[in-house]
Amino acid sequence: MTTVAVVGGGAVGLATAGALARRGASVTVYERAELGSGATGRAAGICYDAFADDVDASVARAALARYRDLDLFESRPYVWVARDESDARAVREQVEGMRANGVAVETLSPGELGERYPALATGGVEVAGLARDAGLLDPERVVSTLADRAREAGATIETGTTASLASPMTVETDTEARDFDAVVVAAGHASAPLVAAVDVSLAVKPYRAQALVTAPVDADLPSFYDATAEFYWRPKGDGLLVGNGAHEVDPADWNRDADPEFVERSLARVARSTTLDPTRDRSWAGLCTATPDGDPLVGRIADGLWVATGWQGHGLMRAPAMADYLAADVLDRPNPLSEHLPARVDPTRFDGSESFDALADPTRDW
Ligand SMILES: Cc1cc2nc3c(=O)[nH]c(=O)nc-3n(C[C@H](O)[C@H](O)[C@H](O)COP(=O)(O)OP(=O)(O)OC[C@H]3O[C@@H](n4cnc5c(N)ncnc54)[C@H](O)[C@@H]3O)c2cc1C
Repeated sequence: MTTVAVVGGGAVGLATAGALARRGASVTVYERAELGSGATGRAAGICYDAFADDVDASVARAALARYRDLDLFESRPYVWVARDESDARAVREQVEGMRANGVAVETLSPGELGERYPALATGGVEVAGLARDAGLLDPERVVSTLADRAREAGATIETGTTASLASPMTVETDTEARDFDAVVVAAGHASAPLVAAVDVSLAVKPYRAQALVTAPVDADLPSFYDATAEFYWRPKGDGLLVGNGAHEVDPADWNRDADPEFVERSLARVARSTTLDPTRDRSWAGLCTATPDGDPLVGRIADGLWVATGWQGHGLMRAPAMADYLAADVLDRPNPLSEHLPARVDPTRFDGSESFDALADPTRDW
């Protein structure tokens, strides 16, 4: 039986552990704190198939199908709006590209958008895209379900256990050093320092993203992204979860609370974009990971060592599909997704010495 260690108990690590165990591997997950205590537990939980790129669309289709099967997917259309001519042109092109990939998506004029969602203020909107098959995830439920499924398939999950690498296939904890046939590092922003111990350099950078939840609002709204102002919301309970406020940060020294300016700006943006006058209920910040080209780093990086990081704010929605891909790669089985995926996500496409702007990629929503 192939023995595999998975470092990181976020959505990606847990989904990967389950996918490996279901394929017959003997899996041990190491999580330094509690399951979901990294970016996963801080995610907004927006989930969509609205990708114009066919590889992204195939990953999204597979991930949404898995979340539906697991009863974790709540349907909610995703609307994105443009407020200037160049963003509007981009939205029209994106919708065309998405349609070519079979995505259920349409463009709406401001009038059509207002008719569909009367609580949206459509003044200043040039055009909107609407993805009908998008939805919402509850990160807490995702974590507990993926962990339960991994355990049911035979995986062992050790929480409160910090792992380091003594060699690419040797995991060291406070109590032991253990050899595995393969090690998968899915440790979010901590993946780079972890693999640096075995002389692997990853082209990944952390950035801080912020979110708040409003007090209850009385409105039927879709998930929403303003491509010109660059902020988003999703319905959350009776309120709205509003996010963005992203900037590069030192991962050793960052504030887990949202900035007061972010809260103020976000509430004002929602007030301008709707008929509502929202107030803050709670807010927080989390760390996302960026790569030079906006695609994640998923695959073998050294003999016996795999990584999965650099999700560019899309890791939760992609986790179950990318976990199936990663598990197949580790166990040398056929890739269940697009034949173009391996080249797109191959972590060795960079040597790790690249300098880049973590917030430059236009595919990053948050
Ligand atoms: C505000 C915000 C909103 C977001 N919204 C969305 C969204 O709507 N949709 C979406 O798809 N994505 C969203 N994201 C991004 C998403 O959260 C991430 O892409 C995803 O959670 C990454 O999952 P992960 O398992 O790779 O990493 P993480 O969840 O960070 O998990 C890594 C785990 O590794 C553990 N770890 C680290 N080092 C060690 C070690 N040495 N030993 C043992 N364990 C270790 C950590 O404790 C952590 O639990 C958002 C992120 C933020 C911050």
